[in-house]
Amino acid sequence: MTNIQKVTVAGGGVLGSQIACQCAFKGKTVMVYDINDQAVRQAEERVKALRESYKHDLGITDEQFDAGLSNLSYTDDLARAAADADLVIEAIPEKPSIKHDFYASLAKVAPAKTIFASNSSTFVPSTFAGDTGRPEKFLNLHFANQIWLMNTAEVMGSPRTDPDVYREVVEFSKEIGMVPIELHKEQPGYVLNTLLMPFIKAGGYLWSNGIADPQTIDKTWMIAMGSPKGPFAVLDMVGLRTAYNITSERMGDDPQSKPFLDKMKAMIDQGRLGLESGQGFYHY
Ligand code: NAD
Repeated sequence: MTNIQKVTVAGGGVLGSQIACQCAFKGKTVMVYDINDQAVRQAEERVKALRESYKHDLGITDEQFDAGLSNLSYTDDLARAAADADLVIEAIPEKPSIKHDFYASLAKVAPAKTIFASNSSTFVPSTFAGDTGRPEKFLNLHFANQIWLMNTAEVMGSPRTDPDVYREVVEFSKEIGMVPIELHKEQPGYVLNTLLMPFIKAGGYLWSNGIADPQTIDKTWMIAMGSPKGPFAVLDMVGLRTAYNITSERMGDDPQSKPFLDKMKAMIDQGRLGLESGQGFYHY
């Protein structure tokens, strides 16, 4: 067993609420920190709203979910949140200025023992290591949305991360039911998105150039590769809005990608957002 028993999750939004719930469900003592009373209450509601998904997807009982909830507490006081934490997992907005300020504040109140981990989707740990006051105890621990089901945890250190800290976080991720994905170097997009982005881009190229329709492209991939989903079913799952934002950020300057981006934008304007709106490239 690792020494990581007390976990603080900073930011109780979409991912933070899931991370907190999963850690508590697996028996860790968890505190959720958010910026003010209202945000804290919203975080609590988000965690509680996961009950039906856990019951449906994992086949657990209300009693088992309640046992997890009993390991959770909430605060808007950063000093209190950090006071005895073995690990702080940061899941606050993907804005560098917010994260820089957060780590500088956290560094002042966290004890020396505390490991800091960022759930950032796009920033490598070197970006914030200098703010933490403990670069050897700082790394990224990146979860996927719906972490109780899509249970990968990508573990990525900076060149300054202590290898023992890295190993401990890998073991911790197993304790909370994740499959650790170990990266040996910093890589924006980690393993998953480094694979996924060219895949989506290639699908978009075939579609927007009129070479084949989305369903045919997906069918080709699914049959020939024995895969459950093609690129357009993946886009529906991620959500067209998020997919458009990420794609335009990464490929917005690429003229080859413009027709694809325009077509996605038109779908968003029609309210075809994917799974979340019941209609995207497919009906749900
Ligand atoms: P979100 O907007 O749903 O939640 C952010 C939370 O942070 C909110 O509760 C907000 O009140 C809180 N917050 C804002 N400023 C804060 C501060 N200074 N201190 C503490 N809390 C603060 O965002 P999200 O989608 O959960 O994303 C959070 C992080 O997780 C990002 O780094 C993102 O890249 C990463 N991530 C998101 C996903 C996803 O699918 N949404 C997947 C993997 C990783």
